[in-house]
Amino acid sequence: MTQTIHRINSVEDAMISYHLTREQIEAATLNSNGNGSYFFTVKSASTPGVVYKVIYNPAMKALQCVSFDGGPVCKASEEGYNCWHKRASMARSVLIQLERRQQRESEIAQALAERTPEEIEEQAHIEALIAQGTDRETATRVVYAKPKRISEKAIKRDQERFAPREFRLLK
Ligand SMILES: [Zn+2]
Repeated sequence: MTQTIHRINSVEDAMISYHLTREQIEAATLNSNGNGSYFFTVKSASTPGVVYKVIYNPAMKALQCVSFDGGPVCKASEEGYNCWHKRASMARSVLIQLERRQQRESEIAQALAERTPEEIEEQAHIEALIAQGTDRETATRVVYAKPKRISEKAIKRDQERFAPREFRLLK
């Protein structure tokens, strides 16, 4: 039975979706051309030491498995069939994107956890305004433009701090 997973959230999902073993996925490595473009290298399972190169061909809008560094072309590609090297590269790129997304999400969670009570209050106020129909930009401007409430204690402290010295001595 063929199982299809639309949203890949783990290596196991990728194995099912792309019909690969864990070893096949691990055989694929992302490489940079140094000019913003990337390719995958995939270790041959049948011939130790042999590596194939998987590139994206924008004209064909497809992946191509080609020779790496003057090495051989994989048998399937040579005969015009699809090979698992391309599927492994595809799975690998999806997993790399997943990793980056999880990294971003954990950074956001970290930032949220580190908020001060004042920031939490401000952000709750922004969300409340948005829920009432205000757009985010306006809600943010309104909340942050609000003059900060100055506590009695802070006023007293400043009065004391900036009071002439003799006043303080008289106290
Ligand atoms: Zn191949």
